[in-house]
Amino acid sequence: MEDRHPQRRRSSGGCGCARVGVGRLIREAPREGGTNHTAALHSTSAHSSNSALARPTPTPDPRSAAGPVRTCIGCRSRSVVDGLLRVVVVDGVLTPDPRRRLPGRGAWLHPASECLDRAERRSAFPRALRVPGPLDTGPVRARIECEVGAST
Ligand SMILES: [Zn+2]
Repeated sequence: MEDRHPQRRRSSGGCGCARVGVGRLIREAPREGGTNHTAALHSTSAHSSNSALARPTPTPDPRSAAGPVRTCIGCRSRSVVDGLLRVVVVDGVLTPDPRRRLPGRGAWLHPASECLDRAERRSAFPRALRVPGPLDTGPVRARIECEVGAST
């Protein structure tokens, strides 16, 4: 009699608790696991498809998008014309042509005094514009300094 009581309590109590607990665990576990698995699969598949779409995107040609490219007569580096100042000779005088509308041969220069200095030193203007003799870069310098002063 004395031995049965502790066994009953242990077995009945233990079994009942274990059954309920296991039943809950078994019922709930597959639901959560299943949703997590499907969500993970969906997210990973979406990620992989996105990266696959992003990779083959053709890189646009910067030259065609930004316009023609010219060589700066000062630093001799190539730039799109939007970043350069066109200079022409009108009656033997260097004339800045920011609108690029003046006729004739044009020289291209970064609107920077450094590039103008270098072009001046190597007499790049007469060479680029096919005119004899030195040219007065005063108007161009004024234009560049005005532009630099306005931008900063
Ligand atoms: Zn330059």
